[in-house]
Amino acid sequence: MTQAEVGRLIDGNALSRQLRTDIALRAAALTRRGVRPGLAVILVGEDAASQVYVRNKVKACQDAGLYSVFEKYDTTLTQAELLSRINALNRDPAIHGILVQMPLPKHIDPHTVIETIATAKDVDGYSTLSAGELLTGSPGFNPCTPYGCMKLIASTGIVLRGKHAVVIGRSNTVGKPMALMLLQENATVTICHSATANLGQHTLQADVVVAAVGRRNVLTAGMVKPGAIVIDVGMNRDDEGKLCGDVDFAGVQKVAGFITPVPGGVGPMTITMLLVNTLEAAERVAAPL
Ligand code: NAP
Repeated sequence: MTQAEVGRLIDGNALSRQLRTDIALRAAALTRRGVRPGLAVILVGEDAASQVYVRNKVKACQDAGLYSVFEKYDTTLTQAELLSRINALNRDPAIHGILVQMPLPKHIDPHTVIETIATAKDVDGYSTLSAGELLTGSPGFNPCTPYGCMKLIASTGIVLRGKHAVVIGRSNTVGKPMALMLLQENATVTICHSATANLGQHTLQADVVVAAVGRRNVLTAGMVKPGAIVIDVGMNRDDEGKLCGDVDFAGVQKVAGFITPVPGGVGPMTITMLLVNTLEAAERVAAPL
């Protein structure tokens, strides 16, 4: 990487806009062929953050010309009732993707809920089968957040083959699938977590660092190799209550080659990749041209 590339911002909002324009065109083309891509979003309970996420997802669908159904239920909804609703959506030909917003109320088992969604409609990519498809390199649905991170990395023009990537965090929804996607692109991957000794020793060797922890300042300037790509998945609040990531942005920007901001980096891409997965789910059921 050249000196001129140091600290270049990867703009998730701009990339999202670009991708959503393409999604809208593909959705319109598919609709003209009689298959309008449709997403069902289910929210159970009153979690304030979830309500915002769900609203944003439904609006993004509408803006891109996708059909969307939003179902909101009281916390009193039973697990059996929720599963029955998911099964009905599994059978509904107007619906190509189903998303159940997490977290669910305590009396509902998220694993059972996720496993009830038909694999062909699992646009969040959270089910065991979807995870297995990612692991084995079969065509399935990639979880939206790490999928969005891959697009952000690709937008730098840097090829991952032979690069060393370090993922900080090993959750089933972000860290682990992120590592698998980087591996699929022929990066050499290290996964770090809360028991990793000397995190900085690992990250200092990385050409790409993805931080997905949920803790401020996990990655600081002294832990980053000059010129590295830094992707910040974290969503935290700073002392003034403002949204911030896991990365000490001001410090790391001076060392990194490319860096995503928070907000305006990974966040918008997560919703964009949900639209991509829904569109692809619909394209798979449409008759070939
Ligand atoms: P999670 O399930 O809590 O996982 C956090 C991971 O970080 C765990 O694997 C944990 O290790 C590891 N960790 C904790 N402390 C660490 C430390 N000091 N050093 C190294 N690793 C450490 O969280 P998640 O669901 O993956 O989400 C991570 C962050 O991304 C959160 O801030 C979340 O809000 C954000 N997020 C953002 C988006 C978006 O669209 N922007 C989407 C999803 C998530 P152990 O496994 O050892 O406990």
